[in-house]
Amino acid sequence: MFLTEKKDAKEIDEALNKYKRIGIVGCASCASVCLTGGSKEVKEMEKHLLNAGKEVPFTISIDEPCDKRVLKEDIRFVEDELADTEAILVLSCGTGVQTIGEYTGKKVVTGVDSRYIAQTEHIGEYNALCGGCDECRLNFTGGVCTITLCPKGLLNGPCEGHNGINCEVAEESKCVFMKSYENMSKFFEEENLDRIFSPRDYSRTIKRKI
Ligand code: SF4
Ligand code: SF4
Repeated sequence: MFLTEKKDAKEIDEALNKYKRIGIVGCASCASVCLTGGSKEVKEMEKHLLNAGKEVPFTISIDEPCDKRVLKEDIRFVEDELADTEAILVLSCGTGVQTIGEYTGKKVVTGVDSRYIAQTEHIGEYNALCGGCDECRLNFTGGVCTITLCPKGLLNGPCEGHNGINCEVAEESKCVFMKSYENMSKFFEEENLDRIFSPRDYSRTIKRKI
């Protein structure tokens, strides 16, 4: 699941300042699960905008606004209202926001901050385990992601700050390299202990030509 968090209303209000008629699109997938873009949050945002003197020609929750095929089908339900809309407030991750902007050609404003690919502990409690770094090293690290779990984002480690067990930055937490070494021992993968990873190949971060 991709974790999003609600933005401060002040930032949203400022971004919408110039616009009077604002449609709202929620995401019935990830943003709904993390309580930032489900139907309840869409309603709350509608109330907020109406109280601020705006008009809201439509609200809609789309299953996956990041999926062009789904967006194309669902947005048809508000086609007429969309034509009369100046801006769209989107309660989804940045991919959903940009997909809606691209598809509709309208001004889009995001109501949330996009955080990371998350493990769900409970609703409202999430863990960052993967940052989508292009070259997954989990096969060589005992199955734990040092880049995401180390506060310094280290590929090779540990740093010199750990006390033998715990992290120097997050003192209450074990150094992720200790956990990685533990897992390598447990799974008899000690051959990976001395592995040094090459620097990340940033040419792979080119995701799309624009
Ligand atoms: S190495 Fe970590 S950040 Fe990169 S893809 Fe694997 S789990 Fe995700
Ligand atoms: S102690 Fe370990 S987890 Fe903490 S910053 Fe250093 S290498 Fe990263």
